[in-house]
Amino acid sequence: MIKITCDVCDKVRPQSDRRIGEDSWVLGYDIEVENANALQRSLRFLSRWDDARVLELGAIHLCSEKCKDRYIKEARAVA
Ligand SMILES: [Zn+2]
Repeated sequence: MIKITCDVCDKVRPQSDRRIGEDSWVLGYDIEVENANALQRSLRFLSRWDDARVLELGAIHLCSEKCKDRYIKEARAVA
């Protein structure tokens, strides 16, 4: 079994036997896109948790809207 933790606060996601999550966890992607003159960071969030996609490239795992907001803020600070 893979252990998923929140990328902001390290909270462990409880195991669920349903692939599509109905809880507060947010699945997103943090991808760097190269265009003509710069490396741009792109954040995308899925509307629902999907266990089948948690290990995809650039996937980020957040336990709540609060951690999602914090993640966005920190990503902006870095970019
Ligand atoms: Zn969290």
